[in-house]
Amino acid sequence: MSGRRDKKLNKFRRQRIWPSIVGMVISTILFGTACVILFSLYVGSSLNNKLYNAHQTVDKVAKLVEDNIDEPLEVINSKLNAARGLLNRVEAVCVVDSEKNVLKQFGDGEPNFDYRLISVTDEDGFEMLADENSEVFAIEDSELTINHTKLFKKGDFASLFVKDMFTPEWGEQDWLSEKVWFVSHSSDKTYSICVETEFAITRYEILITMIFAAFSGILVLFFLIYHLSSVIKLIIAKRRVYGLLHTDLVTGGKNRYYFRRVGQRFIDRPGKRQYAVVLLRVEKYRNYCTVYGVDAGEELLERLNMIIGSKLARREIVARMDKSDFALLLNYDCDYSLTERIISIINELNYSLVGRKAVFVAGICTRNEKKADIMTLFNEAGLAARTYDPNSNENIIWFTDEMEAEQIWERKVEDEMERAVANREFAVYLQPKYKTKEERIGGAEALVRWIHPVDGLIPPYKFIPIFERNGFILTLDDYMITEVSRIQARWLQEGRELFPISVNVSRAHFTTDNLAEHICQIVDSFGVPHEFIELELTESAFFDDKDILLRTVARMKELGFKVSMDDFGSGYSSLNSLKELPLDVLKLDAEFFRGEGHLDKANLIVGETITLAKKLGMTIVAEGIETREQVDFLAELDCDLIQGYYFAKPMPINEFEKSTYGSSEDSESSAEDVNTNSSESL
Ligand code: C2E
Ligand code: CA
Ligand code: CA
Repeated sequence: MSGRRDKKLNKFRRQRIWPSIVGMVISTILFGTACVILFSLYVGSSLNNKLYNAHQTVDKVAKLVEDNIDEPLEVINSKLNAARGLLNRVEAVCVVDSEKNVLKQFGDGEPNFDYRLISVTDEDGFEMLADENSEVFAIEDSELTINHTKLFKKGDFASLFVKDMFTPEWGEQDWLSEKVWFVSHSSDKTYSICVETEFAITRYEILITMIFAAFSGILVLFFLIYHLSSVIKLIIAKRRVYGLLHTDLVTGGKNRYYFRRVGQRFIDRPGKRQYAVVLLRVEKYRNYCTVYGVDAGEELLERLNMIIGSKLARREIVARMDKSDFALLLNYDCDYSLTERIISIINELNYSLVGRKAVFVAGICTRNEKKADIMTLFNEAGLAARTYDPNSNENIIWFTDEMEAEQIWERKVEDEMERAVANREFAVYLQPKYKTKEERIGGAEALVRWIHPVDGLIPPYKFIPIFERNGFILTLDDYMITEVSRIQARWLQEGRELFPISVNVSRAHFTTDNLAEHICQIVDSFGVPHEFIELELTESAFFDDKDILLRTVARMKELGFKVSMDDFGSGYSSLNSLKELPLDVLKLDAEFFRGEGHLDKANLIVGETITLAKKLGMTIVAEGIETREQVDFLAELDCDLIQGYYFAKPMPINEFEKSTYGSSEDSESSAEDVNTNSSESL
């Protein structure tokens, strides 16, 4: 996964849902509270208004009584009657002294003394007093309080909304009424005027209030639904994006992100369960696609995903990681049962091929340390799978301690390679190539050795494959060409006879178009004639981009470099490449001269290859020659040059100088300095 993509994914993953939910709850509570406050304010102000109106009426009655206090009762009564409009809800009026004894009483209605005066008014004039038995109103700490539950009980909703719905004066009817006393002090404070009135709330008022309450409730509900729907949308969008992110576009199953995320969660979960990570791959998938077509290839991957998926238990995963690589996270009991399971999966896969051919290889890693990184385990399974040998029947390979050691070694090499170049720890060893007939030196091959400050001499097979994998081979090859040019330039300056020295050019170079110019630039900076530098290309390079290869080889030759094909006959030899490429030298792979069986056939092939190459005007070098018989045989076949232990092993520069020129000059080159005492003992 690329770093950027990884970052984006993590950012997306970090976007949590819960802040939206908390936000929703908080905003709904705030909005709800605002509505309740508004509603309370509305109810409060309505009640206040009513009280104020009642107060106004009582005030007028009290004033009328006080103005006429000395008048006879009948006069006051008639005046009160005259002001009937004012007294709409006035039930009774009386005058009390400071001891609360009734001095006078007016009006038609008898004052109902079931209502006891609870408290005397304050200085400001009015105070509404409720009967202490009243269920709705009460005076507490001289504050009027309303008991809401009782208020609604009295309201009788059923009759409000159903029974009385169609009566014409419905709105005007009282829904709730309470008799209360208002007490007003006379200006000289010698007596007080008490007015009993009915404090009533009409149904119309209550309906308006209820509509207002319902409206507020609906508003809060809408607010909640709106937020809830956006949270749900967010969850759905997240799930959908997750689904897409975790779906493999070829198989329709899970992909590497899913494996990494969910798999890691599974193995991190504490419990008795143990897991094995398996890499299952279709070996040579490219060949399968070439033979049966890309569609058939993709169909195979899809089927593979389906078959494996159908064989999984709970908390097991299959995901396509790359090309034809599948990662499996399987429960692990013991090696035997796991192997059996994988065999049965592979058998079923083979069965599903119906006549087609594909090879399935599984690498297994069962390291079960807690907190293990799943991708590390997968890489380890991959390392195991990488050791698959097509010549053996073993296609289920376990990650072993040796592989782990190799991996540790690879990491060490990668950590130290930059430093090694900077400190010139890579030394050039030269292996002479002998002219077959004269048996004297006719050239040499430059081979790298790592003279490690702690580990000593490290042979190339221990680091070249790693460099080829991580691309550092480009730096190393440049380094080698530079060092060889430096040596040749010195010898030239010292007036020594020069031989062509070949350097290995890894196939990784053939991705750029200007390789020939690049090498030319290095060699020219030392002023070495190009014919003394030979470039060895491995046969495998011929399977990469052919156009670039052909152009590069042609350009190398144009620039005057010798170009050779290394390891000819080691892999998939193609006589075609001899036809297409204008090569100068053909290096017969050492494998031709190894092994006991089929010697006659091998010799025949060597003979014929030499004849063919000669006809094409190429120089032949036989590699890995160790015996006198081989030398004699090659001499008979008119092979040009021999490179092998029989004549000389690769050696440090000073040794090479001694054996070739008969003297060893002290040199400034640190590569030589480190090599002065080391002789090859391969
Ligand atoms: P190669 O290019 O095929 O080099 C020949 C290998 O055969 C050398 O191994 C050499 O020491 C070995 N050899 C030569 N004669 C005999 C013999 O008679 N018997 C046996 N058993 N072996 C013989 P070496 O030096 O270990 O290099 C191994 C490979 O590493 C080379 O194979 C080459 O592919 C790679 N290599 C070495 N140096 C470089 C380099 O500077 N750049 C690149 N790209 N690859 C390099
Ligand atoms: Ca070589
Ligand atoms: Ca070779």
